[in-house]
Amino acid sequence: MAPQKLFLEGSWQEGQGTPLTVTSPIDGSVLTTLAAASSDDVDRAVASARRAFADGRWSRLAPAARKKILMRIADRIEAEAVELAVLGVRDNGTEFNMALKAEPGSAAGTFRYYAEALDKVAGEVAPTPPDVLGLVHRAPVGVVAAIVPWNFPLMIGAWKLAPALAMGNSVILKPAESASLSLLRLAEICAECGLPDGVLNVVTGRGTETGAALAHHMDVDVMVFTGSGATGRHLLAASAQSNLKRCYLELGGKSPNIVFADAKDLDQAAKVAAMGIFRNSGQVCVAGSRLLVERSIHDHFVDQLKTHAEALRVGDPLDLNSQIGAVNSSAQLAANLRHVDQALSEGGNIVCGGQQILQKTGGTYMAPTIVTGVTRDAALFQNEVFGPVLSVTAFDSEEEAIQLANATSYGLAAGVWTADLSRAHRCIAELRTGVVHVNTYGGADMTVPLGGVGQSGNGHDKSLYALDKFVDLKSAWIQL
Ligand code: NAD
Repeated sequence: MAPQKLFLEGSWQEGQGTPLTVTSPIDGSVLTTLAAASSDDVDRAVASARRAFADGRWSRLAPAARKKILMRIADRIEAEAVELAVLGVRDNGTEFNMALKAEPGSAAGTFRYYAEALDKVAGEVAPTPPDVLGLVHRAPVGVVAAIVPWNFPLMIGAWKLAPALAMGNSVILKPAESASLSLLRLAEICAECGLPDGVLNVVTGRGTETGAALAHHMDVDVMVFTGSGATGRHLLAASAQSNLKRCYLELGGKSPNIVFADAKDLDQAAKVAAMGIFRNSGQVCVAGSRLLVERSIHDHFVDQLKTHAEALRVGDPLDLNSQIGAVNSSAQLAANLRHVDQALSEGGNIVCGGQQILQKTGGTYMAPTIVTGVTRDAALFQNEVFGPVLSVTAFDSEEEAIQLANATSYGLAAGVWTADLSRAHRCIAELRTGVVHVNTYGGADMTVPLGGVGQSGNGHDKSLYALDKFVDLKSAWIQL
């Protein structure tokens, strides 16, 4: 592929930083290079977004006109779904079947959802005394910086872009180093569909250089982020050190998946639990990475899980027979293996996996891994791996299950398997997470928000609630 450039002011431009090499996790081949935006380039991107916002070329368009363009973008993403999915898979290694649905499929749905919503959200007339008219406007915030991770770039990118654009803002998008290609193409699609120049600028590059310049920028009004807690901390500090820009964080998780002995179909639970952790090689923020299983069924359930895990076909993510693709990078693979070693040194037992596989391909693949006997204070219980590694812990009572589930600093997602409706509702109430799945794991669509509590973050993507991040409430008090 030709070297990639920055997308600024509606055209491709060189970056001033040292370019990055893009390596495919499928086979280690070099795909291309990415431009690296320097802080001067970031200044140019922000200035361009500010100009676009201030002159109203998008922010003051009639909502119906904005809707038309966002709908067109959704249609184009759908029309180019296969090409976009392949581009993304070569870059980040996600299995194609999943990528097609989760990436262009969900990005198109997201653009359509917010396009349809944008002329249905209105301000308010306040219940004031009769001699006063009180109005509450929902005004666009201005310039939004969106910093996104590598696991589902198009889907997560669209979760930020579509509601921000729907509300009339300008956006500077910073993709991850190892998953920029499909988002660069999306920027071009947006321009081809009529999004005015400067309303969306894409700055690729290193987090510590390009991302940090955006985070510290004095003219960014709101920063929306999905990624690791460590980076989230940097962003909050950057906001405090610069202009106090609003900062919404969607961070990691160590999500408990709780299986009670009274679950109706334990084999189905095992099958779904296996996919709940192993799909996309465990590189899913809501991955059910911490299995809590009632002791009376522990051994049987772990056997079933092992059968499902070992049956998963790991391989070239562009081969339609592969159910699990590649780990995103050699650095991520090495980190996954270190987590497994530490789990063993802390008394865990490997039931299956635990090693790199398919080395001959030159790619980065890891066998689905199950570790039992993981105690509450073990690192594998407490820390996110973001790889295909499942930690298993037995419990004896509902009370203990809830305590164990809530015993980490995270609070993103949870699963509960039970045939007892009252127990399911007790768990929904007691689990300190943003999402609870009951008798399934990992399902959701645009109608429900996704966000965490605790150190899993403070913002929500998806649903109408996501629009709130991109508006300022402005009151008018009019004496009559
Ligand atoms: P990361 O934090 O390393 O990187 C995310 C983005 O931040 C990238 O674009 C990166 O370049 C940028 N970045 C890195 N350092 C920066 C800095 N100092 N200043 C500004 N920007 C910087 O995360 P990742 O490895 O790309 O993604 C994996 C993490 O994302 C996992 O923890 C995962 O759980 C989380 N995640 C969360 C959700 C959610 O919705 N809660 C969804 C997907 C992924």
